[in-house]
Amino acid sequence: MNGALPLAGRVALVTGASRGIGRAIASRLAADGADVGIVARSADALAATRADIEAKGRRCFVLPLDVADGAAVTEAVKKFAADAGRLDILVNNAGVTKDGLLMRMSDEDWDTVLDVDLKGVFHFCRAAARPLAKSPAGRIVNVSSIVGMIGNAGQSNYAAAKAGLFGFTRSLAKELAGRKVTANVVCPGFIETDMTAGLPDAMKTQSLGQIPLGRFGAGDDIANVVAFLCSDGAGYVTGSVLPVDGGLAIGGFGG
Ligand code: NAP
Repeated sequence: MNGALPLAGRVALVTGASRGIGRAIASRLAADGADVGIVARSADALAATRADIEAKGRRCFVLPLDVADGAAVTEAVKKFAADAGRLDILVNNAGVTKDGLLMRMSDEDWDTVLDVDLKGVFHFCRAAARPLAKSPAGRIVNVSSIVGMIGNAGQSNYAAAKAGLFGFTRSLAKELAGRKVTANVVCPGFIETDMTAGLPDAMKTQSLGQIPLGRFGAGDDIANVVAFLCSDGAGYVTGSVLPVDGGLAIGGFGG
């Protein structure tokens, strides 16, 4: 039974897996047969995701750390790859927002978002590159945002970090292609998670009107696409930037 699963025998690492999109991705990769390492800032926050993965019969490794701490990431990934015995899939999903208009944006809010959403991805890719290169089918999936593609007033820090992932990931796609490691970006649209729960109702209504498919997304909508990019069937897909947004990036209903 296990042998029939698409990711049987693979080992994945998912950041920002305590809730929301990252939790949906970790759960889906486990359902597809992978053992999964999960990252967030505290082990307590990861307990429910861990229980879910273990209930599916997979090994789960808990890595409590701040993705902005490069030394902690290097050490934890090294230990994880040794404990798990291999590393095949890296999904960089951890992210934060610190919204504010440019004229009022503090250095701290700029730095926090860049340090987590962009530099955190660099930390994990650098630490994971060697073990991924040893996999027969290494996969990197970086979770960006359609805000990186189309911008958003009040999110210049977030847009800069998320757009930075495009060039970063495409460079990795070229660097690591010789090792058969693919690197792709997924750009969620408006997904119902803690990150969007606090937005004003007026903004949600306006956003909904911009989504041709007429609904907000769920974590599973993103997890489905990430699972495909991690599968053997996506072995010829690298350097791609893929919106998963119900059509939000192409605008409203038009004529
Ligand atoms: P969320 O519900 O707020 O979850 C964010 C996750 O990131 C949590 O697991 C959090 O863990 C982790 N995290 C945050 N800062 C961290 C740090 N410094 N170190 C380690 N882990 C950290 O967010 P989400 O909506 O699921 O978003 C997931 C990703 O999708 C993000 O990159 C986000 O930018 C992107 N995205 C989301 C949407 C959307 O509409 N929701 C749209 C486009 C893109 P702890 O807080 O437990 O440490």
